[in-house]
Amino acid sequence: MSMLGGGLEPGSDPCSRAGCRTEASWQVIWRNPRIHAPDRRKIWLACDEHAEYLRDYLAARDFPVELSPFPADAEHAPSSPVSIEGP
Ligand SMILES: [Zn+2]
Repeated sequence: MSMLGGGLEPGSDPCSRAGCRTEASWQVIWRNPRIHAPDRRKIWLACDEHAEYLRDYLAARDFPVELSPFPADAEHAPSSPVSIEGP
């Protein structure tokens, strides 16, 4: 069962903002209460620059909206500052 509508693959998805080609690092998860069932979710992708823009765009219309890191299951693993050296 896919709640995402398909086509949502991590790694190379650009921001949903028109004209922006930056790779997305946020999911803007929202729904329109007037036309969407309570468990329905729409997901836009957004770069760092436009995540808040898109969130505010939806929030201004009284749509429930939240931001989630994207890809959701791939934390930016920081390269460890401590290198483990052998004996
Ligand atoms: Zn953008």
